[in-house]
Amino acid sequence: MKLFTVGPTQMKKEIMEVGGQLVPYFRTKEFSNVMLDSDRLLQKFMHAPKGAKSIYLTASGTAAMEAVVMNCLNSRDKVLVIDGGTFGHRFVQLCDIHEVPYERVTLAADEKLTEEHLKPFDNIGITALLVNIDETSTGQLYDIQLLSDFCKRNSSYFVVDAISSYLIDSYDMEKYGIDATIISSQKGLCIAPGLSVVVLSERLIKDRVENNQIRNLYFDFNDYLRNFQRGQTPFTPCVGICMEMNKALHLIDEQGEDDFLGYIDAVAKDFREKVKKLPVSIPAFPLSNAVTPVIFDKPIAKKVFEILKDEYDIYVNPTGGEREPYVLRVAHIGDTTIEDNSMLIDCMEKAIKKVTEELE
Ligand SMILES: *Cc1c(COP(=O)(O)O)cnc(C)c1O
Repeated sequence: MKLFTVGPTQMKKEIMEVGGQLVPYFRTKEFSNVMLDSDRLLQKFMHAPKGAKSIYLTASGTAAMEAVVMNCLNSRDKVLVIDGGTFGHRFVQLCDIHEVPYERVTLAADEKLTEEHLKPFDNIGITALLVNIDETSTGQLYDIQLLSDFCKRNSSYFVVDAISSYLIDSYDMEKYGIDATIISSQKGLCIAPGLSVVVLSERLIKDRVENNQIRNLYFDFNDYLRNFQRGQTPFTPCVGICMEMNKALHLIDEQGEDDFLGYIDAVAKDFREKVKKLPVSIPAFPLSNAVTPVIFDKPIAKKVFEILKDEYDIYVNPTGGEREPYVLRVAHIGDTTIEDNSMLIDCMEKAIKKVTEELE
């Protein structure tokens, strides 16, 4: 089996070895030290500002998004959501459910986010901006400088879902004044799903987390912050995945962050070059290195997906929504190489040929 999917990803052998081991008991000094060690590396690769604190949730990424909305926002806010796809839309749904007032920028599937989209929201009292920096459903990597500038001139908190961008594209909380970063284990870290992390700036903790009286037991950030001072979580964490995370972060540290990101960049660029020989197109807006959307001119995406899966044991990401018949997404993270790209392009070419012949 070969995964060209964005999460779960094709995991490295070293990670699968950790996954195969006995899961240790966790209310110990030893496990606390593993968590504190992971946190040091995780924040280092995020360029987290001084005083930033992390929250380790045993939950999928959406739960971390929801927990941030509950702990960091409230009914007196006026937030701006970049609603540019499935994940942006999830922030809209969360604001609705938790009664957080919002404005939104809605983007079409092929529309690039620009300064023009943000201008109408200047000087109207936006208190926080919510964005999925790589909107994984379209592959668009938004211009973080543009969004950071908006937050600075409007004195808004900057909340970033970097689930499919952290450890894939370069990411820097300090440089861009980011107040909350949301990540999840199965994407950039390339380990099993089940763990999500929220890293918060000191000001967001002091202003909001400490004062928002939330009516929720499991997602109360104050409890997590208190416990993590000693490297623990209030409830049983996904201990096995925490062990995988520690291994993954050390592998990246040994390789060096720049080298690690540079490799993913090279694999993504190579794929985008090679895919030109197929009868498909890719979006014109800036893309994250996480995935390349491959757009067919005929509604054959589902058939190509099935052939890749059934005949070659290769998995790519289908795309939900209206564009489902036309778009597949190919991930470039995890244990995938330039040679794998050649193999995939070859199989895609055969699959497209087969489907097209059947159509004729
Ligand atoms: C994968 C992903 C999520 C989280 O999805 P879950 O299925 O809840 O883990 C959230 N935001 C983005 C941008 C993602 O890519």
